[in-house]
Amino acid sequence: MVFRFRDYTTCLSEFEHAIWVKCPRCDRPVLSRCLDQQTTWRIACPHCSYTKTATRRAKQKPMPWWSDDNWWTEYRKYNGAVDPLFGLPLWLQTPCCGETLWAYNEAHLDFLEAYIRAPLRERQGTKGNHHGIAIRLPRWMKLAHHREPLLKGIQHLRDRLPEP
Ligand SMILES: [Zn+2]
Repeated sequence: MVFRFRDYTTCLSEFEHAIWVKCPRCDRPVLSRCLDQQTTWRIACPHCSYTKTATRRAKQKPMPWWSDDNWWTEYRKYNGAVDPLFGLPLWLQTPCCGETLWAYNEAHLDFLEAYIRAPLRERQGTKGNHHGIAIRLPRWMKLAHHREPLLKGIQHLRDRLPEP
């Protein structure tokens, strides 16, 4: 049986409700959790009790952090592997194929793995959401000869997943 990847509607924002980031105080993993209708996120580090809250207005794009020089500095420093609210480095990131492979959480890893494993990827009709991640994934993640290193990278990130 050939597995076909058909999910072209999942958006990155669907994984934003819980993002593993590196605590800026103790460098350990902490969840950035969405508290309400995708407007308020909160970090409460269980290791060092660092707390911070960030908000963004619903449907506002670009997000406030994007207009902040510090956010962009962090974004470039980590090759894009920062969270969209606090600009903190993602916990789940690893060098891969000369780029940075990153994910927000376990569900995001599952999604990426399903995409990378699928030998056939088809786009159904015209219903596909052009904001869907599968279409917007960078080219290097779509190259067949990167499949094995990408799957290794994903396994490495799974090993980094903190206990829930
Ligand atoms: Zn901490």
